[in-house]
Amino acid sequence: MYNVVIVGSGCAGNTAAIYTGRANLSPLVLAGHEPGGQLSLTTLVENFPGFPEGIDGPVLVENIKQQAIHFGAEYRHAQLEECDLSKRPFRLRIDGEWIETRTLIVASGASARWLGLPNEMRLIGKGVSSCATCDGFFFRGKKIMVIGGGDSAMEEANFLSRFGSEVTIVHRRDQFRASKIMLDRTRANPKIKWLLNTTVEDIFDVEKGYVTGVKLRNVQTGQLWDQEVDGFFLAIGHIPNTKPFAGQLDLDPDGYIVSHGGARTNITGVFHAGDVQDRTYRQAITASGAGCMAAIEAERFLEAEGH
Ligand code: NAP
Repeated sequence: MYNVVIVGSGCAGNTAAIYTGRANLSPLVLAGHEPGGQLSLTTLVENFPGFPEGIDGPVLVENIKQQAIHFGAEYRHAQLEECDLSKRPFRLRIDGEWIETRTLIVASGASARWLGLPNEMRLIGKGVSSCATCDGFFFRGKKIMVIGGGDSAMEEANFLSRFGSEVTIVHRRDQFRASKIMLDRTRANPKIKWLLNTTVEDIFDVEKGYVTGVKLRNVQTGQLWDQEVDGFFLAIGHIPNTKPFAGQLDLDPDGYIVSHGGARTNITGVFHAGDVQDRTYRQAITASGAGCMAAIEAERFLEAEGH
């Protein structure tokens, strides 16, 4: 029987593990399908407080993990397959085995949606990014492309226009999901160009090891052409990792956990932390903060229950 099981090993889960570890609760962390979370897909992180020279994303998240292990956290390279949250202790199926826990912290994150192009994954952190706030700074004076037609794409394009020599939004239709106000603001930005009814067919240049350009296709005419670009930002949405909790935890229509105040979910003893609930800030530092909140709530809950 565990006191705390933490689902996810990004900033939120690992920080929750430090706090619950230091509270002598011997947490079990399920590392999940993307161990280290989204930071494991980035390069230099310059906005996490405490690192004046910046720190590599994978190093940062590994450091937080080691800090948690130092305080007694146990890590398992496993995924949550199924759970029963209908009564306490909660039951979780991992690698075919059922385990029990008094509290659960869901820090399973939200995975960025990718286009699925063969070269895309090879160039992540080398010009391909899913986070303008994280990586925009590296593209000062460079040519930037943003993919998507929602509010995220508009927000990212406007943000990136502070850095890039030009920003081109590539969208597969000529209708937008973005709200009118965001769209109007983006249309009024003289640094932003538009390529509508256009899809990305390929990204170059894996040989060189960084992004130099893309192959584009006009979906109406079928015309193909290559275009030079240095920074390639995906803003085509995120998918919260909440599948095992569907039908038990309150989720919004897009699958994000609905908060019931603080780090609480609709189920007493189950807490949320990080991007699995947060569709607004999505930063390493806010995820860490949320992990801390969830851990403190779990600790207080266990204390009140006499554990
Ligand atoms: P979204 O609204 O779902 O938009 C995703 C965009 O990506 C759509 O334009 C979609 O095209 C495109 N897309 C999806 N898959 C694609 C693919 N495989 N290839 C090419 N394009 C693809 O996602 P979001 O922009 O991340 O926004 C999510 C939610 O957060 C929304 O409710 C949004 O309002 C909110 N949000 C709000 C703000 C703000 O108010 N400041 C900022 C960011 C996000 P189609 O339209 O053709 O499907």
